[in-house]
Amino acid sequence: MAAAMCRHPVKLGFIEEDTDLSLLKSQFFPSKIGGKPSWLSLEPVLGGEDLKCQKCSDPCIFLMQVYAPLAMRDDTFHRTIFVFVCSNASCSSQGDNSNFRVFRSQLPLINNFYSKDPPPESIDEGTDVDSFPSADKFQTLCHVCGCKGTKKCSQCRKLHYCCKAHQVIDWKAGHKKLCQCAENGSTDEPGANYSAGILFKEFELVTEDEHVSEADCNNSKSEEECLQEFEQMKMLAETEEVEDSFATADLEQSAAAETEDDKQFQKFKRRIDPEPMQVLRYDRGGEPLWVSAFHKATKENVPNCSCGAARIFEFQVMPQLLNYLNVDHLDASLDWGTLCIYTCQESCNPGNLYLEEFLWKQDFQNPGH
Ligand SMILES: [Zn+2]
Ligand SMILES: [Zn+2]
Ligand SMILES: [Zn+2]
Ligand SMILES: [Zn+2]
Repeated sequence: MAAAMCRHPVKLGFIEEDTDLSLLKSQFFPSKIGGKPSWLSLEPVLGGEDLKCQKCSDPCIFLMQVYAPLAMRDDTFHRTIFVFVCSNASCSSQGDNSNFRVFRSQLPLINNFYSKDPPPESIDEGTDVDSFPSADKFQTLCHVCGCKGTKKCSQCRKLHYCCKAHQVIDWKAGHKKLCQCAENGSTDEPGANYSAGILFKEFELVTEDEHVSEADCNNSKSEEECLQEFEQMKMLAETEEVEDSFATADLEQSAAAETEDDKQFQKFKRRIDPEPMQVLRYDRGGEPLWVSAFHKATKENVPNCSCGAARIFEFQVMPQLLNYLNVDHLDASLDWGTLCIYTCQESCNPGNLYLEEFLWKQDFQNPGH
């Protein structure tokens, strides 16, 4: 296969620190980091089993969402990918994706929830925010994480939770005191003055096109490069066979692998150097920019969508995002080299449902990087 030319620029995502957070609500179709999810389909939203960490079974919390409609199709007029992660940092380990969950939601222009008119640019000038749709008008949401809340505080019967774990967190964080007031008919919204503090800080995610030179635009190796490398490896292997020394062969091989890894890391650095603050690279149908030569996803690693269609690469989350997540308050370190999101090639139509997609986590091989 010949080296592909740039079909279109990669879109880079950056953190915007000064956004009016009310503009990140569902009706504005935001891309954002942290806070509670701004659901696209407002019913049914995700909760319970959907968001269970596959390691510890606690509910994952919202990490980010990317608004990524596909033009040319009616049923993907609105389309958002949601990423959730377990907040128990001890569930995070090298090359393992089981503490993440990814979902896709999409809606046609004419749908049950939103006006077909574009949202206002801002919400001042007497805009009635309550007239906008929000998920809590359709169903109860967890007071802590913003996901579907099917359990009620049995005392005040005012607050809802997605699970026992979040109710306990909220109780300790302040509901213990406020629950009484709520029970006695206080008009103060319970919990209005505190935050359970387990969510990531909320930011808007804005995108712009990446500018790259033509030479850099092909992310994968050329056929010629691959062939050369292959020949070199073969020669190396043959020499080793003659020498008949397993130990040397092993050493040579691991040295070659380290060099290969370093090359990949240098390539990664070169590519992000012009825009070092990028937290996201969006390139549906393209190739991820790997941070290491090890543990790259291959076709075999990426399972098909539940509809049977293959999944393709859609975007990757960069390690720079970790700098914004104040993960220090977690016991251990939530960490990644890059998180690659693969979604259904057909973007099959789930109606109002959220469909699970796939995440591949690649870590830096050398902790010094
Ligand atoms: Zn977990
Ligand atoms: Zn919750
Ligand atoms: Zn209560
Ligand atoms: Zn599908």
